[in-house]
Amino acid sequence: MDTVSLRGRVESLIHAHSRDYVPDILSSGFSCERCGWCCCENFSIRITKDILRPSNAISIFPDDIRRIMKGKGLKWDDVVQPDIYSCLSDGDKIWAIGWILRRNDGRECVFYRDGACAIYEFRPMICRCYPFFMGKRGVEVMHCERLEKKMAKENAEEMALMLKRYEIKKLRSYISIMAQLGDKLSFANLRMLPRGYEGEVFVCDGERVVRQRT
Ligand code: SF4
Ligand code: SF4
Repeated sequence: MDTVSLRGRVESLIHAHSRDYVPDILSSGFSCERCGWCCCENFSIRITKDILRPSNAISIFPDDIRRIMKGKGLKWDDVVQPDIYSCLSDGDKIWAIGWILRRNDGRECVFYRDGACAIYEFRPMICRCYPFFMGKRGVEVMHCERLEKKMAKENAEEMALMLKRYEIKKLRSYISIMAQLGDKLSFANLRMLPRGYEGEVFVCDGERVVRQRT
């Protein structure tokens, strides 16, 4: 997708009213039971022939990282790692497109402890919006283990607003990352680094380009 169409989507989201998403959210039957299924690796998504992205490789914004660091007294590297499933190589350097939440050796989110989210109050926007995302047809629902309870209308309204804010932030982040990467960004150049990769990676997160050793 090019920046012109992304900007167009941002504009149309800005002018959309989040209450229009409420009926879809209510009819999904969703009310999070905090079962933790979505915090663990349950399946992988084939992105390209070479890239298999785990279901819980969770992309997060720098603002989310700072909120978690401040709330829990953690360092940047305690929270995230470069997105090893979304890298590019220009033959000279390796570039990562943003950050993902750290995962433990059992391939769960590192904050999933004793069957609960240890940073629930500070959790990333993407976790607050799950299982909803804005697709081509409007609000769409990803897999959730507990689509059996009805959400209260006021909670659905809050979710709708969060979803709108998240989508706008995500698209603006894409636009900034595209500007950072320039013509290095092409689908054909996308790579995944092996788990446990050791080396230098330049992370473009829409705010800064961070040189990071993994
Ligand atoms: S799978 Fe659904 S119910 Fe379980 S934690 Fe995730 S969003 Fe909540
Ligand atoms: S931050 Fe919390 S809600 Fe999000 S994946 Fe990790 S444990 Fe789950």
